[in-house]
Amino acid sequence: MDADFLVVGSGIAGLTCALRCASGGSVLLVTKDRLPESSSQYAQGGIASVWSPDDSFESHIADTLGAGAGLCHRDVVETVVREGPARVRDLIELGVRFDGHEDREGWAYDLGQEGGHSQRRILHALDATGHEIIRALSEVVRATPQIRILENHLAIDLLLDRASEPPICWGAYVLDRATSQVHRMCARATFLCAGGAGKVYLYTSNPDVATGDGIAMAYRAGAAIANMEFIQFHPTCLYHPQAKSFLLTEALRGEGALLLRPDGGRFMSRYDPRAELAPRDIVARAIDNEMKVHGWESVYLDISHRDADWVRARFPTVYERCLRFGFDLTKEPVPVVPAAHYCCGGVVSDLDGRTTLPRLYACGENACTGLHGANRLASNSLLEALVFAYRASAHARAFVARDRAAPPTIRAWDPGAATDSDEAVVVTQNWDEIRRFMWNYVGIVRSDRRLARARQRIAALQEEIRQYYWHVLLTSDLAELRNIATVADCIIACAQHRRESRGLHYTIDHPEPDPRWRVDTVVRRGASGAPVPESARGAEG
Ligand SMILES: Cc1cc2nc3c(=O)[nH]c(=O)nc-3n(C[C@H](O)[C@H](O)[C@H](O)COP(=O)(O)OP(=O)(O)OC[C@H]3O[C@@H](n4cnc5c(N)ncnc54)[C@H](O)[C@@H]3O)c2cc1C
Repeated sequence: MDADFLVVGSGIAGLTCALRCASGGSVLLVTKDRLPESSSQYAQGGIASVWSPDDSFESHIADTLGAGAGLCHRDVVETVVREGPARVRDLIELGVRFDGHEDREGWAYDLGQEGGHSQRRILHALDATGHEIIRALSEVVRATPQIRILENHLAIDLLLDRASEPPICWGAYVLDRATSQVHRMCARATFLCAGGAGKVYLYTSNPDVATGDGIAMAYRAGAAIANMEFIQFHPTCLYHPQAKSFLLTEALRGEGALLLRPDGGRFMSRYDPRAELAPRDIVARAIDNEMKVHGWESVYLDISHRDADWVRARFPTVYERCLRFGFDLTKEPVPVVPAAHYCCGGVVSDLDGRTTLPRLYACGENACTGLHGANRLASNSLLEALVFAYRASAHARAFVARDRAAPPTIRAWDPGAATDSDEAVVVTQNWDEIRRFMWNYVGIVRSDRRLARARQRIAALQEEIRQYYWHVLLTSDLAELRNIATVADCIIACAQHRRESRGLHYTIDHPEPDPRWRVDTVVRRGASGAPVPESARGAEG
């Protein structure tokens, strides 16, 4: 056994799991880049939690259920919302410094408001909340002797005891990117905390590490995967060739920023009475429609009517970054486009973070817990990751304390007859192709025909990647390509299965919600390797 607990990923979910498991045994934390590199560290807006006396659990629950369009699991929503304040307090105790000020009653946290929230309840650290959370968590994790950190190590596949049904997870095969060696890492409990899958799409707010590895590994192992059709597109990423989809936080619209057409006119009130404060799927679809109908390359976001010093003080990161690309947020509207932002679906997990495979937990964005349903409410994802990392670690600690089983003999990684690739262009070609057709055919607005085209493309590409994969020596690029193809396959299968429009899934062929589809879409790997939909878990929201 290499460790009692193996944690894959070092965002807010992975760092929290590592820290919480450390009191129950040895922890191995593998992460494919440097420790801080994750979506978590780029989170700008903040973390939602009931904090003010004017707010209530009922209100946060109602807002979450409202956004989720009938697919949230009420028990999960209640748990996350009610346990939220305690988990945020944990963060503060670990050294996270959220913004606040002294008032007559002592220290008061500044609470932001974002689209879909009916109250101010977003704790933030200026506009770089994720950076502050990851700074504090990383410091504590690095100082914890029971945790061994392996950076630049990419988990490839799960170690499975296939003699059992369902297979039992005993850890993972992990590629050391520096030496290109694949190691077998065996553990009593394994946590998938590998984050989202934005890189499946051409335009994304996500960092390069977001290639859906956790979802793809669990899928290949036979775990249930759900709700992959619900991809959230962030409405406002900076439109600039060098900006690599830099995100302009929703808090800007919360603080009064307006969306404008190139001629300076507003358009949001034609789509929703809440105008700029409508939930982000409505805003993203409105922008997509304006751009497509008029052939515009972008629309504009304008906060220049607010006091310049206040804007610079409240949004320093966004201000600096825009300035670097030649736009002064305090003086002019900034060009924006939508981009893939958050994956509501993932590995099916229960209230203790348990997946459908024994000894395997999933937390954070790669899990599908039932919190978000068909649409995520802004700033609920950091909260979800925290609450579930806490609960899953508690469950795994108790389990490991009782566990006496010996792991089976699991074979070492076998590179077979693989040789060095002399055709790395295969990876680049397939990578670009998948991301482009996913953007065009499986993006913000879908149709039966577009999805059928995407299905044809992915089937051919999957076959090509499968053949190539086993004939060349493994690299991280190849492993990631295989993963984005697998995740794309799952997204297409779920989107084709759901013959209605609900939440983030919008198709022109079935434009209305249908009560018969008020269920999760669950898929598993079929005999051919392609995802097969199965009957669903019921939603209660
Ligand atoms: C720009 C941006 C802004 C956002 N703003 C907010 C916000 O204000 N509020 C909010 O609630 N949410 C926000 N979100 C969403 C939120 O940040 C994420 O959902 C959340 O941080 C996910 O945390 P995680 O720990 O699950 O994954 P991540 O933070 O993405 O961490 C995943 C980790 O897994 C590692 N990894 C991946 N694959 C492998 C592998 N095969 N082997 C080893 N390691 C691997 C990665 O390197 C990384 O360390 C934002 C997201 C983005 C991209």
